[in-house]
Amino acid sequence: MQYKIGVMNGDDIGHEVVPLAVEIMKASTTKYNNVAIDWVELPIGYKSYLDCGETLPQHTLDSLKYMDGWVLGPIGHAVYPKNDPKAINPHPIIRKVFDLHSNVRPSRSYVNVNSVQNDVDLIVVRENIEGFQPDRNVYAGTGEFMPTSDLAMSVRVITRRNSEAVAETAFKLAQQRRKKVTAIHKKSVFKMGCGLFVESCRNVAQKYPDVLYEEMHVDTSAASLVMNPQKFDVLVTTNMFGDILSDLTSGLVGGLGMAPGLCIGPKYSMAQATHGSAPGIVGKEIANPYALIMSGKMLLEWLGVQNKDSSLLNASQLIEDAVNHAIKKGMVTPDMGGEATTKEMGKAICSYVSNVHV
Ligand code: NAD
Repeated sequence: MQYKIGVMNGDDIGHEVVPLAVEIMKASTTKYNNVAIDWVELPIGYKSYLDCGETLPQHTLDSLKYMDGWVLGPIGHAVYPKNDPKAINPHPIIRKVFDLHSNVRPSRSYVNVNSVQNDVDLIVVRENIEGFQPDRNVYAGTGEFMPTSDLAMSVRVITRRNSEAVAETAFKLAQQRRKKVTAIHKKSVFKMGCGLFVESCRNVAQKYPDVLYEEMHVDTSAASLVMNPQKFDVLVTTNMFGDILSDLTSGLVGGLGMAPGLCIGPKYSMAQATHGSAPGIVGKEIANPYALIMSGKMLLEWLGVQNKDSSLLNASQLIEDAVNHAIKKGMVTPDMGGEATTKEMGKAICSYVSNVHV
């Protein structure tokens, strides 16, 4: 099978972790002779702004539609020039243009890594292109506005279409796991917005009688996730709640460096870790590549399922085995309790992938 995967480094530590993740994805896929991948580097972010005057060149956006999937590094948009329309935050646009409605964010604890909680293995599935996020929830303009200098308003958009789409993603994942979905909401207050979201989840639940379905208020879930995360399997929720809760669940298992993610739509999928561009640790060689490497693994797995390609599924499993091996050997960055540099951890994983007999 022949695939095309786009590679966009993003900003700051993106330039450190994305090349390592891609090297490992290349090593794992070349292990299986019938997988051929064309890797296409595309400019994005602040480097692209300096090189060609735009953080999201039209060429990049146009090229993505000819790919099967993409790897996107973290975007450090907080420091982009404020009044230049060519210095926009690119990743919400990509998510929206390609209808990447579901953001899948797993959190998993490891015996050899210090964590707040043990035996955690859960996934937050977050709606990804509407909700409270003003840079993607309206067709034109922005979902935030200030009628006066002392009054700010933020619009929250919930649609049946996207609520059902994200619920479908959650139930399909749960079927492959411990068969439980928890819909997170605040419908006691947001009677219409969260009400529509929950109604949509209930409708989808009827199609999956083999999956246990429950509902929980978002505030209750925050406490419950900290105290008893083992009770959860797959959580499904609206955009902002999911953004916050997935950072919380990463904190349970070791931090943002351990939080991979995959943005999924009907046709395309994008590997994108949960964490930001971490400007404070750039160049220190302590950025944890786990999140981006495991995001890449998720992308290969998704492509394998979509194309019924067992070689890609094997390549994806090989990356996970290699990561487990590095963790067992303690070849991990300081945030995971090790002494390895970013490159050393990446190289250890890559060398396992390259040298193991398959
Ligand atoms: P951040 O996720 O970049 O960093 C938060 C903390 O986690 C910092 O202490 C950082 O050092 C640490 N951290 C993050 N990733 C790590 C890794 N791989 N290994 C080790 N430690 C890691 O969040 P922030 O500081 O709030 O934001 C920085 C920039 O990133 C801002 O411009 C923000 O807008 C942007 N951001 C982008 C995304 C994205 O691209 N998806 C997500 C969140 C924030």
